[in-house]
Amino acid sequence: MQLLERIWEAGIVGAGGAGFPAHKKLVQNAELLLINAAECEPLLSSDRFAMRHFSHEIVAALCQIRQELAIKRVVIGTKAKYVEEIRALKQSIDQQGADIEIHGSGSYYPAGDEQILIYEVTGQTVPPGGIPLELGIVVSNVMTILHIHDALEGKPVTDKYITVTGAVEHPVIVRVPVGTPVADCIAAAGGASVPDYMVIMGGPMMGRQYSSAQLEDLHITKSDGGVVVLEKGHYLNVFSNIPVEHIINQAKSVCIQCSYCTELCPRYLIGHNMRPHRVMRSIATGTHAEFLEDALLCCECGICELYACPMHLSPRRINIYVKNLLRRGGAKVRDKAVHPHHSYMREGRQIEQGRLIQRLDLLPYPRQVLEETQCRPAAVCVALRHGIGKEAVPVVAVGDVVKKGQCIATVDFSDLGSKLHAPVDGKVTGVDGRIQIQADWGNGQ
Ligand code: SF4
Ligand code: SF4
Repeated sequence: MQLLERIWEAGIVGAGGAGFPAHKKLVQNAELLLINAAECEPLLSSDRFAMRHFSHEIVAALCQIRQELAIKRVVIGTKAKYVEEIRALKQSIDQQGADIEIHGSGSYYPAGDEQILIYEVTGQTVPPGGIPLELGIVVSNVMTILHIHDALEGKPVTDKYITVTGAVEHPVIVRVPVGTPVADCIAAAGGASVPDYMVIMGGPMMGRQYSSAQLEDLHITKSDGGVVVLEKGHYLNVFSNIPVEHIINQAKSVCIQCSYCTELCPRYLIGHNMRPHRVMRSIATGTHAEFLEDALLCCECGICELYACPMHLSPRRINIYVKNLLRRGGAKVRDKAVHPHHSYMREGRQIEQGRLIQRLDLLPYPRQVLEETQCRPAAVCVALRHGIGKEAVPVVAVGDVVKKGQCIATVDFSDLGSKLHAPVDGKVTGVDGRIQIQADWGNGQ
């Protein structure tokens, strides 16, 4: 079986973002395979865990990917301050005689944004509205590469390493079956340390927020990497709950057009014409409709609203609102020019991770989680879609007994989607928009 078929067979999706199916992302003859190992969301450390503990597997998989897909250059893009992780990777590279470079960037947010990482490593800007492949570059998360290693050994994606941190008793990296209830992950970290809490799936900057009441229906997917528990009423919680109508009124009455949001916008600083202050002006005044198109270039990193704006406004939320409206109308990015004149300011305007953590009121929580544990849920609930693409079609029925790793839902190789495999031994108890399995831990799986 060819490499891409094995990846499809294993049901691998991008582990670090939107969950793009990996067999559709990797291509033959790319100039550069850039491994995203910068893990820049505050408090998360699953990728660092993988680099320390599975460097041999990551390097071995990269060698095989490079050879089979005839990729010219492979670079692992991480942060220079991840000294232990770099040491482990270098050791594995030396032991295997691999032709793999390591690039260590500064400790800033968002060093792990795909396009920022490309700029950091190559000095090139992906054209606005474009994709890395236009520059001959494929970007893949380091955890995805670990899944590819397992796929090459015939093991599909059944488990995830999740950082569970924030207001929990014992922040921990927990290995869990896909489909594990998020409540079980929190319990594996000793439970919440505050009575009233909310949960962020992903990192504090870009993750999705849920109330504790929503936990009952929340399960780990293949693209998850972090669960951050915060006290209900935390600054981030309050901020994200402001209705968009209120934000628009704020833009009308309070935006002072200082343009700090633009000056610190990472996409603006690599040469995209992403100018959130212009979007705010257009929304506030109802003029310059052409300014609204900038919103299409927003990567939703959150710097403008959680760090830059002195008036505590939310250009990001406005951008998301405008972007959705424009996309519904079929709008596309028209200005594909790159404006390199911004780049000379970039270094001085990077948001240092420590300052960001302070600004987000996350200082009470550990910046890195080292302890590891496992979680054995009584039941798992596996969504039929794990990121971008179409739902998988179930191939099991209620009452079926399944073995860990057995295919339970499928997509065609040509589909944008991922196959699903039983994350545990057990019995199928539901097939209704998702697959529920009662786990059987009795046989030492
Ligand atoms: S930083 Fe805030 S106040 Fe300044 S232009 Fe942007 S949205 Fe307006
Ligand atoms: S969220 Fe704000 S800072 Fe980030 S890309 Fe969008 S406009 Fe720029």
